[in-house]
Amino acid sequence: MTNKEEPKKEVVNANGVPLFKASYNKQDVQLDNEIVYEFGGPIGVCAMMTGFPALMYYFWVSLEYHQGTLYYPESFTKEGLSNFFWNEYYGKIVEGALPNLTAIKIYMGYALFSFILAWIMPGPIVEGLAIPSLKGKKLKYQCNGLSSWYTVLATSAVLHVTGIFRLTQIIDNFGPIMSVAIIWGFTMTTLVCISGYVQGTNHRMSGNFFYDYFMGGPLNPRIGPVDLKMWAEIRLPWVVLFYCSLSCLLKQYELDGQVTAPAVFMVLAHFLYVNACQKGEECIPTSWDIFYEKDGFMLIFWNMAGVPFTYCYASIYLMKYQLTTGTAITHSLPYTAALFTALLLAYWVFDTGNSQKNRFRMEQNGSFFVRKTFPQLPWGHIKNPSYIKTEHGNLLLTSGWWGIVRKPHYTADLIMAISWGLITGFGSFLPYFYFCFFVVVLVHRVTRDMERCAKKYGKDWERYCERVPYIFVPYVF
Ligand code: NDP
Repeated sequence: MTNKEEPKKEVVNANGVPLFKASYNKQDVQLDNEIVYEFGGPIGVCAMMTGFPALMYYFWVSLEYHQGTLYYPESFTKEGLSNFFWNEYYGKIVEGALPNLTAIKIYMGYALFSFILAWIMPGPIVEGLAIPSLKGKKLKYQCNGLSSWYTVLATSAVLHVTGIFRLTQIIDNFGPIMSVAIIWGFTMTTLVCISGYVQGTNHRMSGNFFYDYFMGGPLNPRIGPVDLKMWAEIRLPWVVLFYCSLSCLLKQYELDGQVTAPAVFMVLAHFLYVNACQKGEECIPTSWDIFYEKDGFMLIFWNMAGVPFTYCYASIYLMKYQLTTGTAITHSLPYTAALFTALLLAYWVFDTGNSQKNRFRMEQNGSFFVRKTFPQLPWGHIKNPSYIKTEHGNLLLTSGWWGIVRKPHYTADLIMAISWGLITGFGSFLPYFYFCFFVVVLVHRVTRDMERCAKKYGKDWERYCERVPYIFVPYVF
């Protein structure tokens, strides 16, 4: 069904999109309050909350002491297992990854700096969706990510060039910084959780302490004008990830006087990601994470520690390989060129896919405006889009990438993820960890989201699935 077939009574914007998201209805309230155990319930989330940090350390030891090879006990006897745990695992963490003052200054210094920037820098103010638990109130979000990002870039360049803070120190202190991030992830989750209880802002609580700690209590915790969830989603993880890769590249340059194409590739890949988050920040207030997900361990820990310190293995592997063997990893020109091309094309789909849908949602919300941040890629905003109007009131976009598959931005994101592994060759699993993990995350996210949408839109969702039958790749899946 296209917009031409829709009745013309409703209020529409200049692009022909009706303002449907301007309010909320009973069904939104019901879905917003519904408690369903996800992620395997309390047992599953406890396993994740202990397993993630343990796995991060295991991978760190593999990279730091075993050139990226996954190490395992020499024997599965009591002695072998004890040696593996106490000497190889725990012993190495104590030796090289305990938090130190330098690491605290680097990580917490940046966290504080980015928070201050989020508070004071200029940027457009954008309204989020009507929040059912706040009786339809629309919160305002100060989107100053871009001015903050440029300030961080300029500040770091000055610090590095003047020698006040050499960016290579990040990678020199990677283990201790990761530990600080892990501790901060737990600390911030606890503080947000306590603030939810104290302020009485906890929402959709299951009553199980561990599950609620994982999923979070408050929906929109704030300090002053800073929305903590939005700050944690884009100001810290991707920026720290970018600086980890840049630090590896600079280290390579210090060692060798030159940089390799794979190291440049990783810096470009992470630059594109972080820049996309900042330049399109105004699209985030209408997203699922902001509107629906609460601020708990899942979002906080993963953003504070998980993303920056596990998605960077490709860059670190490239650097460690060169440090231990004396030879840098490079590939043939066609292989390298193919990967650069794949990265840039996938980025284009990722950027415009997110932008097409989010701008369409902003149009329905009445919060859309044209923002000329760099780069604005062709096809980022669809003129006169086609859509399915649901009984609920919301519209489901069926134009652009969204007319081809139901999750075009996920497919593009996955292609970028695998390219980060492929640029390192095939010497270690670790650069592919992000891709493997991401497949699991996105498949789970799709399943969760489709179930939610099927409930919310009923027959209209079926109509939408008939209109756009494939999820990731046309005619395949
Ligand atoms: P989506 O962008 O897929 O948002 C899902 C919601 O969008 C649905 O619940 C529905 O909301 C709405 N929606 C779905 N289809 C349509 C449509 N055709 N038209 C209009 N609205 C629609 O969610 P994510 O937040 O998961 O993904 C955003 C980006 O973040 C992606 O690019 C993803 O790859 C990336 N991401 C990256 C991660 C990482 O670690 N690298 C982790 C997670 C995400 P409603 O009910 O309001 O209609």
